[in-house]
Amino acid sequence: MSPADGVETGHTVGSDAYGTLCPQPSFEAYFSEILLCKNELNDTLNNLSHWMKDEHMEKNLVTQLDSVFIRKDPYGVVLIIAPWNYPIHLFLVPLIGAIAAGNCVIVKPSETTKNTERLVAEALPCYLDNDCFAVVTAGVEETTKLLENKFDYIFFTGSPSVGRIIMTAAAKHLTPVTLELGGKNPCYVSDNCEVQNVARRVAWGRFFNAGQTCVAPDYILCSVEMREKLMPALREAITEFYGSNPQESPDFARIVGDKQFRRIRTLLSSGRVAIGGQTDEQERYIAPTVLVDVQPSDPVMQEKILGPILPIVTAASMDEAINLINTRERPLIVYVFSSDKKVMNQVLEWTSRGGFCGNDTLMHMTLTSLPFGGIDSSLGKYHSKFTFDTFTHHRSCLHRSMALETTNALCYPPYTQQKLGLVCFASEVKRQGTCTLL
Ligand code: NAD
Repeated sequence: MSPADGVETGHTVGSDAYGTLCPQPSFEAYFSEILLCKNELNDTLNNLSHWMKDEHMEKNLVTQLDSVFIRKDPYGVVLIIAPWNYPIHLFLVPLIGAIAAGNCVIVKPSETTKNTERLVAEALPCYLDNDCFAVVTAGVEETTKLLENKFDYIFFTGSPSVGRIIMTAAAKHLTPVTLELGGKNPCYVSDNCEVQNVARRVAWGRFFNAGQTCVAPDYILCSVEMREKLMPALREAITEFYGSNPQESPDFARIVGDKQFRRIRTLLSSGRVAIGGQTDEQERYIAPTVLVDVQPSDPVMQEKILGPILPIVTAASMDEAINLINTRERPLIVYVFSSDKKVMNQVLEWTSRGGFCGNDTLMHMTLTSLPFGGIDSSLGKYHSKFTFDTFTHHRSCLHRSMALETTNALCYPPYTQQKLGLVCFASEVKRQGTCTLL
């Protein structure tokens, strides 16, 4: 489907085909849930025949007549558990790779996004072989039961607390897992950058899908001087995007559920509201909001926001900002804005966790060539070839020739010093160059 196939731009806080609220602008839904999934699918289709081929590997002297290769085998039966914030993308992208790798799959969509859950349960069986692929609609109780089964691989996206439950259940059967979890993403803005562009790029990333994006910039780190320049620029960007009253904008999303709405609303009491702050519980509307005078110990800095709130925390220098990033919960991605390459490289060098995106937000998600995943905000990585590899057992294979038995006999008892010397010569990996450390 393309936008021309009937996807309207702008959302209506009205009824969808199932008679409930449509909380996301069509443009954003198309971009995140359809375009990015189609890209993954096309990239996989374009490259699968190459990825799945046996990889012929280097041989030593002993195995010169043999066949040495890596065979790409499926794991078997895979369980994919998805969260609510991109309820199509976050099950479909792993599903594409799991199918490409040859696995059977059980998909467990989020029960929070009821309409999508129902759509997935109705649509997938129409297109996929029902003997190999199934959708399970389940809440916590049923998922707990489901996890008692032995799967060959579990792929989970969700909160760190549920991630621990999944890993514990997987450990019982020694099942390998990928866990895509939380992590607050810092956004350092250095003193030398194009303020208006920074404001637009940060506001887009933060307020896309009303902030319900795991890779959104979670907080800005900058000097007091930069904060004073950024404030009017952010106000201007928000007005440019959503008009003077974002509640009336067809391009600003709503919060997914009442529980999430109330959780995000409590975070508004951290620091001081400098822009926005308005809420409407009935519509689950929270205005694009910027908080200032925020302390690292404030509630908004303790948990992943997943809402349209942008706290600004001040740091006197780049070193102080890096220190703050490194002493906190490990991020999924580190954002930096600077026109100075040295600053960009220093932040990249001194922060090691998660991905990195300089001078923009979210755009790294459009690249199928980059792996996605953090360090302890995740376990494993995926997207495109990395998804295929995630769901593939790389089977190491040696197919020996039955000839030249005399060379093989060098390994057999009775052992001699001379045999050992020859075996070492034929199979030893020699160090190239000289090592300056040893
Ligand atoms: P969640 O952890 O509450 O739920 C995720 C899935 O786990 C759902 O399908 C749910 O039914 C299931 N689940 C919940 N409790 C369970 C239990 N006790 N046993 C077994 N299964 C259980 O997460 P959520 O609220 O749906 O999504 C938001 C979270 O997901 C946030 O923490 C966000 O940071 C994270 N997230 C991470 C990424 C990423 O790529 N790293 C992407 C999106 C969301």
